[in-house]
Amino acid sequence: MKANPKNIRTRNRMSPGRLSLAGFLGDDPRTLDDIVEADLATLEAEGVSCEQIADFLDHLHEAADSALEAPTSTCSGKATVQLTETMGRIPCPFACGVRAHKAVIQVTIDGETLQLTPLQIHLIREHSFFQGRGSVFRLEPAHLAQLCRLCPLGD
Ligand SMILES: [Zn+2]
Repeated sequence: MKANPKNIRTRNRMSPGRLSLAGFLGDDPRTLDDIVEADLATLEAEGVSCEQIADFLDHLHEAADSALEAPTSTCSGKATVQLTETMGRIPCPFACGVRAHKAVIQVTIDGETLQLTPLQIHLIREHSFFQGRGSVFRLEPAHLAQLCRLCPLGD
């Protein structure tokens, strides 16, 4: 798909050193539309929506937030989460006006550790954007769908 001018501006904001040191795209050469489209197709095959993923990640974020930077267990003991807060906020690279708190949540779940940020949750919920391949903060939609099934909300 050909990139539209708005997406080119957004892609520029996602470059390393603009809004975040590492940027949002890794070494992914695809257009934003192509990245989003491929990830949405993966989620559709998994039968999970961006909203369900974001609800699940919000749950992990809230559990970590309420533990005041100490490690805490959630999802019936299936996940351990710990939040580290840093000063300030980071604007959404889609320029939608949201400025997310800077924090990193270490999530240990199913024998693996992943890093989660409040901005990532926003990007997934509002922009269906899981970041480019090779990005430090990319979360694989298929992996997230698997974790969602492992830890159903309300469990
Ligand atoms: Zn946004």
